[in-house]
Amino acid sequence: MNSDEFRKYGHEVVDWIAEYFDNIESYPVKSQVTPGYIFEQLPNHAPDKAESMDSILEDFKKIIMPGITHWQSPNFFGYFPANNSFPSILGEMLTSALGSQCMVWLTSPAAAELEEKVMNWLKDMLSLPGEFHGVIQDTASTATLVSLLTAREKFANYKINSDGIDTQNYRVYCSTEAHSSIEKAVKIAGIGKNNLVKIPVDSTFSMSVDLLEEAIQKDIDNGYKPISVVAAFGSTGTTSIDPIKEIGEICRKFNIWYHIDAAFAGSALILQEMKHLCNGIEFADTFVFNPHKWLFTNFDCSAYFVKDKEALIRTFEIMPEYLKTNYDNHVNNYRDWGIQLGRRFRALKLWFVIRSYGIDGLREKLREHIRLANIIKNKIENSKDFELLAPVLFNTICFRLKPVNINDVERLNLINEKLIESLNNSGKVFFTHTKLNGKYTIRLVIGQTNVDEKHVLSAWEMIKEEAEIILNSEF
Ligand code: PLP
Repeated sequence: MNSDEFRKYGHEVVDWIAEYFDNIESYPVKSQVTPGYIFEQLPNHAPDKAESMDSILEDFKKIIMPGITHWQSPNFFGYFPANNSFPSILGEMLTSALGSQCMVWLTSPAAAELEEKVMNWLKDMLSLPGEFHGVIQDTASTATLVSLLTAREKFANYKINSDGIDTQNYRVYCSTEAHSSIEKAVKIAGIGKNNLVKIPVDSTFSMSVDLLEEAIQKDIDNGYKPISVVAAFGSTGTTSIDPIKEIGEICRKFNIWYHIDAAFAGSALILQEMKHLCNGIEFADTFVFNPHKWLFTNFDCSAYFVKDKEALIRTFEIMPEYLKTNYDNHVNNYRDWGIQLGRRFRALKLWFVIRSYGIDGLREKLREHIRLANIIKNKIENSKDFELLAPVLFNTICFRLKPVNINDVERLNLINEKLIESLNNSGKVFFTHTKLNGKYTIRLVIGQTNVDEKHVLSAWEMIKEEAEIILNSEF
């Protein structure tokens, strides 16, 4: 493809993207295909001869698009959003065009310096402690792994890096509501999932600090070495918040590494009225949140902050001859701030987003999502057939259909499962679920970039209508 052809198809693709967003509500939110549908339409062998871009784009529309679940639809209320925005897409297009491999400062000074700058901006926007140093990771899972590896090395005096794993008695703590990425990280870090102690939560799904302290003391008495506690600022199920300050004090008392997983809800800390929820953050050694979840920056972009930069770098540093440069003592070489050597220029899209919205524009969007969540929360509270199952702290509503005359948990679970399934199969909306205290729970997350009041109200009407159909067919 030459540059003239690129220009032609580039315009075509940009037009297609703009139309996609204009018409996104005409697509079924959840892909309606059955397993194998896409695979069977694709040839078993790669083409020997070049194919035209016209036919590739045609197949993209015909074969690929039906298999897409539309995360950018304003009727997507599932999981946590992986939202994007036009400024972010433009930034990502330029990242793709430059194709820079941002492993060391020299391989693109602008990438390293912009990353340092936008991470400082974020630190400021979220009011994170001044001693934090920021680096962009691909995902929160990676950031949490990086944090636990750093904790492990600090406690092992960097010996596991050199000699391999010599101990089976490290312990990590999180709540029973913590994200699965923590369990994955302790497995990969060689700590072992049996050494991840899951601390029970209270009625608001927040970690019990008394039980945490008890568990740590008991482990020490039994010869274990507690190395890290991971607190949730916005758990995945309900966006509950662990007691950030009290956990910090316990970590300080026992000299334990403190990581805060704020993957989704961290973005809310740009709002003045939310900052108090993270009181005690100054105790944290590391903190992660995902602009790719609720800050309109497309996947992947995870903002990771660490206080002890030297410990991080000492954990990951490598120095082969071919990567040495004359600038190494004066610059940030981000290849040593995480797992991968090769790194994409992710700071660019974040810069586009922050500048294009402005902090005020970002705040306005988040506040609107929280306002919309409160509308639905009030409707559920005033409904005789539905009940809230968790406090609504941000924009996630956990609830279930609970008619007064049905009390059997299993029956209610089946009814609610059926409700989500019918709604999702309609293609008009998309929800996901969790289980809270054994109760099948519908999660409604209002964080999509272009969601507005009419989408949320119409989703609520659909929920009520479908619930009525299901209940009528029950009797
Ligand atoms: N932590 C929490 C609280 C999450 O909700 C999620 C994902 O939803 C993650 C971590 C993992 O995020 P990522 O996909 O960026 O690894």
